[in-house]
Amino acid sequence: MNNNITGILNMHNCNLCPRNCGADRTISDKGFCLSGEYPKAALASVHKFEEPPISGTRGSGTVFFSGCNLKCVYCQNYTISQENMGKTLTTEELARIFLSQQEKGVHNINLVSSGHFLPKVREALILAKQCGLSIPVVYNSGGYEKAESLKFLEGIVDIYLPDIKYFSSELSAKYSSAPDYFAAASKAVTEMYRQVGKNSFDSEGIMKKGVIIRHLVLPGCRKDSFKILDFIKDNFGDSVYVSLLSQYTPVYKAKEIKELNRRVTTFEYQSVIDYFFKIGLQYGYMQSRDSAESIYTPIFDLSGLDTGKD
Ligand code: SF4
Repeated sequence: MNNNITGILNMHNCNLCPRNCGADRTISDKGFCLSGEYPKAALASVHKFEEPPISGTRGSGTVFFSGCNLKCVYCQNYTISQENMGKTLTTEELARIFLSQQEKGVHNINLVSSGHFLPKVREALILAKQCGLSIPVVYNSGGYEKAESLKFLEGIVDIYLPDIKYFSSELSAKYSSAPDYFAAASKAVTEMYRQVGKNSFDSEGIMKKGVIIRHLVLPGCRKDSFKILDFIKDNFGDSVYVSLLSQYTPVYKAKEIKELNRRVTTFEYQSVIDYFFKIGLQYGYMQSRDSAESIYTPIFDLSGLDTGKD
């Protein structure tokens, strides 16, 4: 593990992610992710709707972070990701939240979109581990990360749960303001796999280490989905699992974009599943058609963030 917090983790000139804003995060939150130096979060909860080996029977100890380095027009969590609602936390407070999640009996700590806070989240995880955090750490990411920054999580994160959202730079520019999305995400996922290797599970089927790549099928974009599956097959084979999500719902700005203002059809989703098997992939998760129900969208009310200590 590299403990030298300089260079890419320097918050005075933030180049943590592919945006390379150069923002001084210690004095302002004016970078693209709208985030200061210290982590801001909107909810710590026990989540039961992740993939089965992550949620298991006792749930996943999620912490939802505010701000984001993507601007997805269809983001279900836009109140926290783009409107930046949340509570700023010290490193010690965040470490206590991780420990209090563990006390609830969850299978893992699940960091949802924490990449833009990597230096302080890393410190909080190290502190929590020194104080008894022993369950696996899941790094749940939109995929738009720098591989060089992720290297600082080696030995700290056990399970990576990255999205690969787009292959086409035209789509990633239009829908997430990130024309270089695939170039960054493909390198990021390669680094994630290098760190944790093939998936492993305990005797109850709960994941202990590995990578699950998530892909949300978008309306009118099934051929882009095929290219992402080709990339996964060619680079990882069956060593990572793939979670194909059908839950796309036109929310937020997507309601104003004609081609995004509908659900994915059964034909579109099924054709992506068929392609998954056609190219020889075997291990993954599919969703049922009712997965777009609002029960899967968390209510961000800052609950679970007050550890009762100053
Ligand atoms: S983490 Fe935020 S401030 Fe830093 S480069 Fe990325 S978007 Fe910009």
